[in-house]
Amino acid sequence: MLVKICGTVSPHCYNNKNCPGFLIQEGKSKILLDCGNGITSEMNMEKDLNNLTVIISHLHKDHYGDILSLAYTTYVHHNLGLLDKKVKVFIPKPNLTTIDATYINLYGDKVTKTTESTINDYNFLTNLGMEQYLEFETYDEKTILNIDDLKISFARNPHQVNTYSTKVISQSATIVYSSDTGFKGNILEEFAKNTDLLICESSFLKGQVRKSDNHLYAKEAGLIACNAKPATLLLTHFWPSIPKENYLEEAKNIYPNTDVAEEGKVLRLERRNYNG
Ligand SMILES: [Zn+2]
Ligand SMILES: [Zn+2]
Repeated sequence: MLVKICGTVSPHCYNNKNCPGFLIQEGKSKILLDCGNGITSEMNMEKDLNNLTVIISHLHKDHYGDILSLAYTTYVHHNLGLLDKKVKVFIPKPNLTTIDATYINLYGDKVTKTTESTINDYNFLTNLGMEQYLEFETYDEKTILNIDDLKISFARNPHQVNTYSTKVISQSATIVYSSDTGFKGNILEEFAKNTDLLICESSFLKGQVRKSDNHLYAKEAGLIACNAKPATLLLTHFWPSIPKENYLEEAKNIYPNTDVAEEGKVLRLERRNYNG
């Protein structure tokens, strides 16, 4: 299994670093986990568009911002006869029910501002006018996708909107990508048990103030790895201008088999074997 690192930072691109995106390849299948701003600059469209499936972890803009680039490229490739299949894009269902409701939306559900924004994001994505080229489908924690020889499953994360960790299992390796998650209540320790690679967010560093538990400190990514015991913990979702070594140092103290995600790098995974 090959994992190409396309984007590692949030909330904006900076200095050849892009918002989140990881391209998994095994055999003829390609799975793009998140489509953050700038990630198409790391893709080889002549090859990568064929048999591509996109999975958006949640409807925050840093995780789907490059979908316009992908949509337009798909349209042009169709027109040039370079592509004859639609690219399938899986997105979470928007949050339609919450406890602290503020008003009734057009679906008849009580919603908060956060919920409303995911409905707007959902409507934006599914009304791009690109249905001839992109095919949107929704998923949740019960969904299992079998794409060629890859089996893909999901776990719900504590985060402001419906957000999912993704597990990709193939003959040769298993990886889990956390996407964005709070610390309390996430089930990554179980979900990522003994994986070959755990790609885990580490948005905060010791000394930074986290106003709410929607993201992890690098140390917490290390703590999760201590129990999940992946062959390698790969940190991602950094602040654009902070050196990645700072995150590495904090997590490595807790879990020695830790590395940082770097744009453009391709990891080759075999079971319990990692060559960075
Ligand atoms: Zn998020
Ligand atoms: Zn994010």
